[in-house]
Amino acid sequence: MNDMILLKQGEMALKGLNRRAFETRLIANIKKALAPCGEFDVSAMQSAVYVEPRSPDCDMDSAFAVCRAAFGINTVTRAAACEKDTDAIFDTAVRYLGEELRNAESFKVETKRADKRFPMTSVEISRRIGGRLAEAYPLTRVDVHAPALCVNVEIRDTAAYVHGKPARGAGGLPVGVSGRAVALLSGGIDSPVAAYMAAKRGLRLIPVHFASPPYTSELALRKVFDLADILSLYCGRLTVETVSFTRIQETIGRKCPEGLHTVIARRFMMRAAERIAIRHGCGAIITGENLGQVASQTLQALTVTQECVLLPVLRPCIGLDKREIIETAVAIGTYETSILPYEDCCTVFTPRRPRTKPPLRDVLEAETGLDVGGLLDDALDFACRDSAVTSGK
Ligand code: ATP
Ligand code: MG
Repeated sequence: MNDMILLKQGEMALKGLNRRAFETRLIANIKKALAPCGEFDVSAMQSAVYVEPRSPDCDMDSAFAVCRAAFGINTVTRAAACEKDTDAIFDTAVRYLGEELRNAESFKVETKRADKRFPMTSVEISRRIGGRLAEAYPLTRVDVHAPALCVNVEIRDTAAYVHGKPARGAGGLPVGVSGRAVALLSGGIDSPVAAYMAAKRGLRLIPVHFASPPYTSELALRKVFDLADILSLYCGRLTVETVSFTRIQETIGRKCPEGLHTVIARRFMMRAAERIAIRHGCGAIITGENLGQVASQTLQALTVTQECVLLPVLRPCIGLDKREIIETAVAIGTYETSILPYEDCCTVFTPRRPRTKPPLRDVLEAETGLDVGGLLDDALDFACRDSAVTSGK
């Protein structure tokens, strides 16, 4: 019996002329992600993707998990391939789903016949296989309306496939089809969720982290790299760009009014992110900002924060409340790492009373006392390249 994994493409199937390009990207993403699980053939046909092991030592459980995390996939099903003949299909259903058939209260067989040359209709195939399974499992009742187990049979050009209940895939669009973006990754809860959501819409990410050593520690940096590692399960290979933010924050601290420190620091983050974005051909900046969550996230503060850059700033968490963000963080596996108690550069330099509605005029005036271009040049020159980490196998 040939165990394989059958994937159903999601939204991308609707994309008309772009479909071929989407499919090519999806297959390339899946092949790359499957590399640690063994050698697989990955091919697409009729909005399905077939993942077939080349040898018996492929790790099918890990491959299944990899496929479930891949964006662009609606459902993921382990399936058995067999010859296109009803005896072979019946035998395969017994071997592959026998245990489930024995334990289910009721079942039905549902057939899809993509190969129209096959000499029986879908209904005839379902009846034939269903009848034989009903004889083989007399304690399991046939229920065509609301069965506890559906035995799926697919007749395709190259083979027949038998499978049970599909698992839900990650949805979204294949990473890369929407272009690239920098994702500002702090060690907090929100930014990894924002990065995940942006990747889900097909963006390939360049994570950027601002560190302020010695105020922020090696452990805080390690935490960000660990978060990137977790995100790489969904986003593919990630290389974190680390920017040294110490001198910028010390200078702001010395020269600007305290109530504006946060918003001015955030404007420096935006400018630095934009420079990195241009270097990598990115079309947007992603942040984990929310509306109304903290003083730096009022509408006015967000407007002033992004006023200094031309690239669009996308904030995928904007419509989520904290509980929903936490639920997503738990589901994608970043939460436990995010709550480790290491300092972030923003928390180290938090003013006692930040202005919740910083007027742009005041901010621009405060910035006239700073060598904005020079500070950025230094920070990006000293971007701790050696500590840039590559995540994803
Ligand atoms: P998070 O949980 O993502 O840290 P937050 O609610 O704590 O978000 P802030 O600390 O104000 O909010 O940060 C808002 C956003 O700014 C973050 O989501 C992140 O995108 C970006 N950001 C903040 N600090 C850093 C940093 N040190 N490096 C990179 N990006 C950062
Ligand atoms: Mg934070």
